[in-house]
Amino acid sequence: MKQFQHYIDGAFEDGEARFASIDPATGTPWAGMPEAREADVNRAVEAAYRALNSGSWPAMTATARGKLLYRLADLVAENAQKLAEIETQDTGKIIRETSAQIAYVAEYYRYYAGLADKIEGAHLSIDKPDMDVWLRREPVGVVAAIVPWNSQLFLAAVKIGPALAAGCTLVVKASEDGPGPLLEFARLVHEAGFPAGVVNIITGFGATCGAALTKHPKVAHVAFTGGPSTARQVVRNSAENLATTSLELGGKSPFIVFADADLESAANAQVAGIFAATGQSCVAGSRLIIEASVKDRFLAILKAKAEAVAIGSPLERSTEVGPLCTDRQRKLIETVVASSISAGAKLVTGGKSLDRPGFYYPPTILDCTGVNSPSVETELFGPVLSALTFETEEDALALANDTPFGLASGLFTQNLTRAHRMIKRIHAGVVWVNTYRAVSPIAPFGGYGQSGQGREGGLAAALDYTKTKTVWLRT
Ligand code: NAD
Repeated sequence: MKQFQHYIDGAFEDGEARFASIDPATGTPWAGMPEAREADVNRAVEAAYRALNSGSWPAMTATARGKLLYRLADLVAENAQKLAEIETQDTGKIIRETSAQIAYVAEYYRYYAGLADKIEGAHLSIDKPDMDVWLRREPVGVVAAIVPWNSQLFLAAVKIGPALAAGCTLVVKASEDGPGPLLEFARLVHEAGFPAGVVNIITGFGATCGAALTKHPKVAHVAFTGGPSTARQVVRNSAENLATTSLELGGKSPFIVFADADLESAANAQVAGIFAATGQSCVAGSRLIIEASVKDRFLAILKAKAEAVAIGSPLERSTEVGPLCTDRQRKLIETVVASSISAGAKLVTGGKSLDRPGFYYPPTILDCTGVNSPSVETELFGPVLSALTFETEEDALALANDTPFGLASGLFTQNLTRAHRMIKRIHAGVVWVNTYRAVSPIAPFGGYGQSGQGREGGLAAALDYTKTKTVWLRT
């Protein structure tokens, strides 16, 4: 079995304990993983704290930090194939998606490499002739970056990139489900030449490793991506030390289609929006809100596309939908789909786990028109689309906003005046109009409501990893 290690203080180690990682395509163990408990966590945080305050990192110019980040970006690009294969094997995410995503992981590191020496302080025009006053931007401190199992390399990059550009040091906690790609990525951090302790990468379970990390008094900021109930524990634990938090959480994103939309193109976006990554995406467009007059036509197009999707081994390039990451997730989906059908939702397609090894669940569509269906409220993190219908723009908005979440949204119409009206009133951190799932390192990303606080991507994300120091100098 392949074996992975932690990366703490510039060295690779086996961890206090070990556990087996399951290949979701077969349901059997494929690799041995290190498991950090409190002692490993403490050593990692201490190493990050030392690297923040002594040695070459705090003395390094911002341009030199940027060069290290450029080197890291190049190494990610050069090792893309290997990283993609490990991510696919460890999480079940199909190779086409892991390969495509790693290409833009490298772009995120490049973007923050370029930003490192463009983070500026300010000179203030105080009304005192004998005083010079300015603001210095300094790193916020040791950052704990905690990521879930889907897209670990990407979700870590949007934290590691801006934090290093700002001069912080980090302890990155990979998810216990599929930590392989991030532990492998640690080898590239090492090769890039970051000083020991600047980036530490560990994995372990939430209740032990995650809790110890968020409670540690030397952690200044917790950058968390995961579910809302975990986020509450993270906030409670970090509040003990008054550490700040940024939270990227779940979603139940509306995908609104008006009758005047290009239905074929909207259907393609909807299929990718809900079935990509086997639905295990925070921005999954899981609530279709469709104008009643075109519902039957649109669902017929979707059904045909959903049934034509190639389900298979995630390592095959021809596969379009692979397994779910865990059996736990599949059981949740089975339960919610069954209770939705009992509540009156009509099954358009799918709806039953596949009879084959591994954690496979097929693309599923539920027509929930006029039904109080649990599938409409619960974030399923799986390939399940719930369809609802509307007659008027107001109805569409009411349905779209009828959720405590507010991560992403999709709007399909050819009426741009209406699009502008809707954009202003949709409660979500992202509105995609006549497109879905577009991302760029330049564009900030984050949620409204229970989908989170703070933004990742863009210049502001790097500033969020700084604090200002006001300097008064008598001249
Ligand atoms: P999760 O909340 O169960 O776990 C996320 C991470 O938190 C894991 O590393 C886990 O070990 C850790 N953790 C668990 N308990 C902890 C604790 N008490 N203290 C500290 N850390 C702890 O989430 P998951 O099931 O792995 O991932 C799915 C969730 O992530 C979904 O809700 C999804 O929408 C969300 N997500 C959000 C985004 C985004 O950018 N908004 C992106 C991807 C996933």
